[in-house]
Amino acid sequence: MKQTIRKSQCPAAVSFIAAAILFPFIWAAGVILVRELIIALPDSVMKSIEWVPSYDYVLVCAMIGLPVIPAYWASRAAYMNVRWKEVEYDGSSCRQCGYDLTGNVSGVCPECGRNCDALGG
Ligand SMILES: [Zn+2]
Repeated sequence: MKQTIRKSQCPAAVSFIAAAILFPFIWAAGVILVRELIIALPDSVMKSIEWVPSYDYVLVCAMIGLPVIPAYWASRAAYMNVRWKEVEYDGSSCRQCGYDLTGNVSGVCPECGRNCDALGG
């Protein structure tokens, strides 16, 4: 069975900045999309919710609030993509810290102390 491990390919701070730059764009796109959806609602729907006290306030909150969720998930995915690289695990390095275990006979990673059995870190 092939195993993959995550390998750091970009510092956390740089990855975070990349994700943070992406976030407002997706958020803004989401706000525009939700706004278009609200405008596209049939009049009958709008009439049916007009009795709700300050329904326009609720709609504005939904417009601003809902896109935070997809923006968060997309930014998180971007962060993970920039930060980590999936590489095939060949058993020659510690799975926890990446320390090279070639020639290690103790079965314990000298760098982080993880118990690395013979079948792979
Ligand atoms: Zn280790």
